[in-house]
Amino acid sequence: MPALHYWNYPTEIFCGPGALEILAQRCTLLEMRKPLLVTDPGMLALEPLALLKAHLTQADIPFAVFSDIHSNPTLDDVARGVTVFQAGGHDSLIALGGGSAMDAAKGVALATVDRQGLARFEWSQVIERYPSLADFPRLDLPKLIALPTTAGTGSELGREAVLTVSEQGIKQVISHPELLPATVILDPILTRGLPAALTAATGMDALTHHIEAFCSPLYHPMSAGVAVEGIRLIRQHLATACADGQDMVAREGMLVASAMAAVAFQKGLGGVHALAHPLGARFHKHHGLLNAILLPYVLIANQPVINADIARLARYLELPQPDFDGFVRWVLQLRKQLGIPHSLSEIGLDADAAAWVGEQALADISSSDTNARPLDAGDYSQIFRNAVHGQLPAVFHS
Ligand SMILES: [Zn+2]
Repeated sequence: MPALHYWNYPTEIFCGPGALEILAQRCTLLEMRKPLLVTDPGMLALEPLALLKAHLTQADIPFAVFSDIHSNPTLDDVARGVTVFQAGGHDSLIALGGGSAMDAAKGVALATVDRQGLARFEWSQVIERYPSLADFPRLDLPKLIALPTTAGTGSELGREAVLTVSEQGIKQVISHPELLPATVILDPILTRGLPAALTAATGMDALTHHIEAFCSPLYHPMSAGVAVEGIRLIRQHLATACADGQDMVAREGMLVASAMAAVAFQKGLGGVHALAHPLGARFHKHHGLLNAILLPYVLIANQPVINADIARLARYLELPQPDFDGFVRWVLQLRKQLGIPHSLSEIGLDADAAAWVGEQALADISSSDTNARPLDAGDYSQIFRNAVHGQLPAVFHS
């Protein structure tokens, strides 16, 4: 096996081509005797699952696969996973996939120990009851090892899980410090089969996480620093990873940048996510694609308060025009290079929903106090209309 990078920030991370080979050893060290492998149904016929199964079988580690989950995992998916976990006598979890597999596995870990956990640790309850990580009750959740197969959500380095409440169609964020995986394995070989369009959309999601975290007014210099370097990595690697999916250096760079984004957005997200969440739930569009389209419109709406910070960032990135306009131009050029549409109308959305979108975005967790500046429902409606029609200030028309 080639030399792997090992970091412990904020949890144990192994990174590099072939890092998967460390899995059985970590299972043994963590006393994971019979893990349940959670993945999404789309993974069943793909290379990453075959590699994982062969590895565990060769190491004589008994396991079962649970893949009965939706692309936006629901509370019912989690309940079925808990049944499989308990009936099979499992003691631990391995998550393989994108955000849905990670979030479902986290949900199973929590609900198998605490039946009320999904309600008890819902985000809005948590911030009142447990103001710091040390305030949370210790639950001794089953150990979880996470192996991402996309570079976008960063869920492998998060203490949260996003689950859909089926009856209401709304998303619920669950938070507990023990949801952070015990070990994360960033192996670019597991992402090499990801098609270019999905590589682009998930990569733009990671970019949006970094930019929104960087622009958040919350004081968190450590996360701000992570965001700056994460953006540089994406500038260096995203276009290559899309153009040549077999490029392991680019794939690894994107996996690292995506995981880093989960550390960066401890500082919070902003208006792009506030708009993308309700649009994704109602119109069933890809989260990363929505973010990619919305990003420049929100940057421009925030310009009065982020102008100087973005100029500093543009200088670090060594952009040819190292100021705010140059940064937006780079985002526009990157989107174009990746084949991402310029307007929401190009993916079938129209401005009729503007009032509804404004209200929903205002109520979203990402807009509360972490967008660069306070926006009201009218502001969000206007940003949405601009994004539908592809309207940017004249300076960006060339
Ligand atoms: Zn996102």
